[in-house]
Amino acid sequence: MALVELEKRGLIQWLVSQNVDGLHARSGFPLNRFAELHGNVFAIHCQSCKYRKIQDHPVELIGQKPIGKICGQTNSRGSVCRRQLVDSVLDWEHDLPEPFFSDSWAQSEAADLSIVLGSSLQIQPANTLPTLSKNMVIINLSNTKMDRKANLIIKSKCDFAVELLMKKLDIEIPECSTPLIVEKSCLELIPLPIKEEKPKIARRKRKAQPKSDQDPDYTYHSVPKLLKDEITEKNL
Ligand SMILES: [Zn+2]
Repeated sequence: MALVELEKRGLIQWLVSQNVDGLHARSGFPLNRFAELHGNVFAIHCQSCKYRKIQDHPVELIGQKPIGKICGQTNSRGSVCRRQLVDSVLDWEHDLPEPFFSDSWAQSEAADLSIVLGSSLQIQPANTLPTLSKNMVIINLSNTKMDRKANLIIKSKCDFAVELLMKKLDIEIPECSTPLIVEKSCLELIPLPIKEEKPKIARRKRKAQPKSDQDPDYTYHSVPKLLKDEITEKNL
């Protein structure tokens, strides 16, 4: 819910999720400002006309399989789309969904700061996205393969680090009442420079696991003193 509030205040421009649990969508984070790169168990879509819907119950399939319902959307010429709707959760052989992947790439490149929340950054190409931004902060309990590219690493549970951040910003985290789907943000997206070149890697690949947490290549970056003190106080 902190992310929802930060977006409302114009502090988050774009959100990328690798989770398929659909929680970001159901928290009320506006759908036009985020990409669920690996799918959403609540979402169904049409691969022909691109109609997409988030249901109030999960789909019992994964791997973009037909769910037994016809799309039924009418196009601008008045014809009805007869394609079968499919679930949205990717299998390993699937390319990442468009335009979500290209949009995420462009947003990441344009961003002053990407904050990674609770990801070991093992899955390509999603793990490349935050490294495209001018600055990257990683909040994760374990080491990640992208740690050397980070400006700041906070080894903490995400909830705790985000609560501290909200406290510093003096912004209250709203309560989550019922699942709420918000199609469009109240704020306009900041226009991005148009680029001809498209990202080349769109298929998922798992990066090799690190040998151990004591990876010799691993380098810690300094945590600001104030935050470090607070984390130490909480004995994380
Ligand atoms: Zn359709």
